[in-house]
Amino acid sequence: MSRTRAAFFDPTGQRYGIPTWPWRMAPPHLLTFRQLTARGLRPGGQQVQAQVLWRSRRYRAPGGIRAAYLYDIRLALPKRTPTPRQLEALAKANAARRTCPTCGTDAGYVLPRHLGTCLDCADGNERSAA
Ligand SMILES: [Zn+2]
Repeated sequence: MSRTRAAFFDPTGQRYGIPTWPWRMAPPHLLTFRQLTARGLRPGGQQVQAQVLWRSRRYRAPGGIRAAYLYDIRLALPKRTPTPRQLEALAKANAARRTCPTCGTDAGYVLPRHLGTCLDCADGNERSAA
């Protein structure tokens, strides 16, 4: 182990407050949020369990040290999938955001907030005002 790697080797968390490993040395049951997501899991209310620290010249992190926070896969829970009723409610809400209150049609895109109407109606308003 190089000197920096040794400096980041702290499985008991004595030095860093939480268990810490150098890059690529964390035990396999500890995963980042993204790694959990890739397996269809979420942290499930658990706190960050450990971290990986490494030195990076690319990012201007404090001291050039970057951290990745790890969660225990044994405490992770399956990702929530929306129920059919939730999906229906979402579809309704999105349809409402696309429906122009002036001409009453589904514009096919979310209406720009500053206009409050579809682009055609906004265009027509401008033309009649001019
Ligand atoms: Zn319209």
